[in-house]
Amino acid sequence: KNDRNTGWNFDNSYANLPSTFFASVNPNPVSSPKLIILNAPLAAELGLNIQALQSEDGAAYLAGNQVPEGAFPLAQAYAGHQFGHFTMLGDGRAMLLGEQITPEEKRVDIQFKGSGRTPYSRGGDGRAALGPMLREYIISEAMHALGIPTTRSLAVVSTGEQVIREAALPGAILTRVAASHLRFGTFQYAAKWATDEELRSLADYALKRHYPDVEEDENRYLSLLKEVIKRHAMLIAKWQLAGFIHGVMNTDNMTISGETIDYGPCAFMDTYDPETVFSSIDVQGRYAYGNQPYIAGWNLARFAETLLPLLHDDEKQAIQLAQDAISEFIELYRRNWLSGMRAKLGLFNEETQDESLIENLLSVMKEYRADYTNTFRALTFNNLEDHKLFKTEEFAQWNELWQARLGRQDEDESSSKQLMKSSNPAVIPRNHRVEEALEAAVKQGDFSVMERLLGVLSNPYAHSPEQEEYCTQPEESGLPYQTFCGT
Ligand code: AMP
Ligand code: MG
Ligand code: MG
Repeated sequence: KNDRNTGWNFDNSYANLPSTFFASVNPNPVSSPKLIILNAPLAAELGLNIQALQSEDGAAYLAGNQVPEGAFPLAQAYAGHQFGHFTMLGDGRAMLLGEQITPEEKRVDIQFKGSGRTPYSRGGDGRAALGPMLREYIISEAMHALGIPTTRSLAVVSTGEQVIREAALPGAILTRVAASHLRFGTFQYAAKWATDEELRSLADYALKRHYPDVEEDENRYLSLLKEVIKRHAMLIAKWQLAGFIHGVMNTDNMTISGETIDYGPCAFMDTYDPETVFSSIDVQGRYAYGNQPYIAGWNLARFAETLLPLLHDDEKQAIQLAQDAISEFIELYRRNWLSGMRAKLGLFNEETQDESLIENLLSVMKEYRADYTNTFRALTFNNLEDHKLFKTEEFAQWNELWQARLGRQDEDESSSKQLMKSSNPAVIPRNHRVEEALEAAVKQGDFSVMERLLGVLSNPYAHSPEQEEYCTQPEESGLPYQTFCGT
């Protein structure tokens, strides 16, 4: 059904699943919605009417005060392992408005985050604060521009209401766009509390929506598992290659589609160190940078367990099939990571010693506390003055091996540099830059800092002069950067 005003063109297939998977809800109107930012290129891709959304009525639509024609607002049920502990969750402060069918016939979820209480809110208020919603907008759009599969951000509206956290903060609602919001945790919920038939209908739905190519396979549920494993082997490799730390890799924050979701406590690493953790609540370092591939493997195993009743009538054989599939994950991940690292070093072909060449570089980077992104930039532009790393004997030795390795491929130096430029971003959303933009926006109502940052982040491989000032590390403050989730 089409909403003629705004261009919403919803078809709500999730609502046809068994009712155990959702609760019908209505967005709770807010007192004075105001559009803070609209992602015009994304709106155009979705087939929306940009003028209408930018008008005063538009803010009402993007706050849930006005529910568009054809919408079927619902909160999704899901469970999950949070820091290793299984628990019931569900959309406590989010609701699916509907599935937009784009002009190119793509189907994407349109979800409000911060739109009020639902049956899954537990003690929470169902609301969100402006700062964290803008933070999600900035980082998810930066991830997209970096070429990393992710949910997108369509808009942020302020609500005119306050949310009470440690302090009173301005409230906001984010409109999130996703291939779907099916999570590992949706399957965990089904396996724990639904019937096998309901679980099967969820799995069939996921296959149809995300993996239609394997829908006709002899054991389609095994194919589903293998495809999800493949997508995550790709996704996590891309995180590692970019220095992205998710921060809260609970199983409810892992998607069946293989998109990055939940930008609560995430952050990009500056100084290279596999033990880096930013999240204030991750005191054990469970979700540290270097652990992410193993945690993804653990999460995939939890997903695989949910499929056991569908994999084989005989439980032992089902377990064997699941284990065989899961055991391939780390190797798949490693291959993707290796090929990404080769590109970052300008290498086109493969040699067996490449892995040790790469590990050697990372180990001297760690030893001399080099900036992850800027080291690869410096190598790309042969700009080896900036950091003490480049003056060391260890680096000189490594560089000699690298130069020799470059010499053993057919491609010339300029193709090699081209490959490096398109594999090593100039800019990432550095923490101090994101904080500066949020501070201006939330405290001063000045959105120009954020707009400039978004502009620079939208083309991370441009290596243009105006990006230069966004490449520097923050001044040493003495305090480690900390992130917080759930505000
Ligand atoms: P997260 O840590 O962001 O993955 O969220 C974990 C769970 O807490 C999800 O089920 C959320 O819906 C829920 N949640 C987070 N913040 C709120 C809130 N303010 N009100 C209600 N539920 C919330
Ligand atoms: Mg979450
Ligand atoms: Mg969150």
